[in-house]
Amino acid sequence: MLKVTQSPATTRVGVVGAGQLARMMAQAASPLNIALTVLASNSADAANDVADFVVIGAATDEVALRELSSLVDVVTFDHELVDLAVIEKLELEGTKIFPSSAALRFAVDKAYQRRTLQAAGVPVPRFVILDSWDEAAFDEASEKFAGVPVVKAARGGYDGRGVVVTNDLNEAREGARRMSESGEVLLEERLTLLSEVAGVVATNTLGERAYWPIVTTVQTNGMCSEVRFPAELGPQDLVEVLDITQRVAAIVNAVGILAIELFVTSDGVFVNEVATRPHNSGHWTIEGSRTSQFENHLRGVVGLPLGETTPTERFAVMVNIVGTDEPGSLENAQAVAGAHVHDYGKTWRTGRKLGHVTVVGDDATSVRVRAWKSANALKTSAQMEDE
Ligand code: ADP
Repeated sequence: MLKVTQSPATTRVGVVGAGQLARMMAQAASPLNIALTVLASNSADAANDVADFVVIGAATDEVALRELSSLVDVVTFDHELVDLAVIEKLELEGTKIFPSSAALRFAVDKAYQRRTLQAAGVPVPRFVILDSWDEAAFDEASEKFAGVPVVKAARGGYDGRGVVVTNDLNEAREGARRMSESGEVLLEERLTLLSEVAGVVATNTLGERAYWPIVTTVQTNGMCSEVRFPAELGPQDLVEVLDITQRVAAIVNAVGILAIELFVTSDGVFVNEVATRPHNSGHWTIEGSRTSQFENHLRGVVGLPLGETTPTERFAVMVNIVGTDEPGSLENAQAVAGAHVHDYGKTWRTGRKLGHVTVVGDDATSVRVRAWKSANALKTSAQMEDE
């Protein structure tokens, strides 16, 4: 007689959004016996061809969110461009949503994030929040910061969109005026950065935490172009970064992944921003760590023990593929020794994140050169910079 072994019940996770993060979550889901349903804004979204189920609808649409919730055990996120009021409502009705609306608020609203972190004593750049356009307040902030402020939309920005970093005071003023038409605007002191680093943390529903090592992040035109493990930090800065990362993790208390972007300056370390979802600065963990951020995000939100965050090799470099005028050769990119090429399956468009390449190994220079060689073969808009 044929013996039928009952497989353990599948956990159903719903993801709001169907971009590359949901795609990489879907790739991590199957060994965890998790079925993934994505809420995609359109039929060509990056995660659709690897998810188990696809619901089409806007991330801000209550009806679509209700449909997603009705199909799954727990809801999580691919991005933070959501309507917090709707998320709160569903949560109050009993839908399991991780990160919770309270944690998600940090990522949705940069003004709330800055205020709350500052009130908790976490170092952040000096800032002023404009509720509506106020030229006198803008000029006062510029004087106070003794320079052109960095202008950020409190809500809705990503990948440098919704941020104006310029030396031209008129351009910053015009940017702030325009942004204030659609909501609160953050004016920030522009710091002189020695480097940018990030810490990625996983938390599960039992409150257990796992930290990956700190990485260096490089931005080109406001968008992340490269991530290097380990971060090139002096011992004092590293202690400060680790301490801040742990404090922020406790304050935000996000189930799933929390990424913390930090500025390293000659006056110490400052938090730039936090994201309550898998983050570009953690893509290297797919090959560079025993457990990837995508696996631990899923483990966190369904309440499984977290996997180990120990690196697999001494060095890892991740280079983003950001669309240029025309695509390069996937074959040539894959031909580079040790290159793990992740193609998000998106249509090619200038300035769009289309994939990434990771190389891991025990020789820092070789790892970095090969990651860039592979990315250049596929064509990316950024170039390898001197350290
Ligand atoms: P986004 O949310 O779109 O990623 P960020 O707030 O992270 O935008 O800003 C994008 C980049 O702009 C940062 O990574 C950093 O290089 C630069 N930047 C932002 N704020 C400041 C600041 N206060 N001082 C100096 N550079 C900044």
